[in-house]
Amino acid sequence: MIELDKVTKRYADAVAVDAVSLRVDEGELLVLLGGSGSGKTTTLKMVNRLIEPTSGAIRIGGQDITGEPPHALRRRIGYVFQRLGLFPHLTVAENIGVTPSLLGWDAARIRARVDALLELCELDPAAVRDRRPAELSGGQQQRVGVARALAAEPRVMLLDEPFGALDPLTRDRLQQSFLSIRRRLGLTAIFVTHDMVEALLLGDRIAVMQGGRLAQVGTPRELMTAPADEYVAQLIGTPRRQAGLIDALLADGARAP
Ligand code: ADP
Ligand code: MG
Repeated sequence: MIELDKVTKRYADAVAVDAVSLRVDEGELLVLLGGSGSGKTTTLKMVNRLIEPTSGAIRIGGQDITGEPPHALRRRIGYVFQRLGLFPHLTVAENIGVTPSLLGWDAARIRARVDALLELCELDPAAVRDRRPAELSGGQQQRVGVARALAAEPRVMLLDEPFGALDPLTRDRLQQSFLSIRRRLGLTAIFVTHDMVEALLLGDRIAVMQGGRLAQVGTPRELMTAPADEYVAQLIGTPRRQAGLIDALLADGARAP
């Protein structure tokens, strides 16, 4: 469905993404996992041409994406930003309706779509549709961000650390909502995170990036059982070590008087 073929992005003084080749199958969620500066956002933004590669090719559904004007491409790919993604001066309904308006949908169709998407994203349309983003919690804002990305019925979704700024409980609820939405809609998605647990929970496969390169691509199980190198082993081992520490703490607590 999405193919990256030796994609490189070079800036004057640095290589942000270095010969990355990747394939995301129809209906699959691929997680791009890596530390800060590893090239995740640059990779994602090349898929909808917010950034143009220095070399290499990207295909969606077999078609080279340079064969289509960037604005047309972006309308059929949902994009969820980490933060500052919503227009602050527009209401929730107007935010979600941006792309459908650009596509020339009539007002009644947009209104129906907005309400359906709010319900899909577990928000009460009557309560939130006329509010501005600042009048919503962080979790509600990110739900609106997901709803907006889904507005024009994209087959492909790109998400850049969409839940990264949320508290752990809100984040957990949004992860569960997102899992059920993408199964229901059969979306093909690339999901960027630096959070190992999130990667393990959400990803059908995980692509680990380090210094602009792919360190390993595999299922969560493959990464856990056969890490390609020491970096992947450490990264994937972190949640296990933490779980072990918590178990030890609880065991100690049980022995305390
Ligand atoms: P990540 O999303 O994994 O944190 P990015 O893709 O944003 O990483 O950045 C990858 C690398 O490319 C970083 O070293 C960053 O400093 C560099 N970089 C990103 N954008 C630019 C730019 N416009 N000019 C120069 N260097 C950039
Ligand atoms: Mg980033």
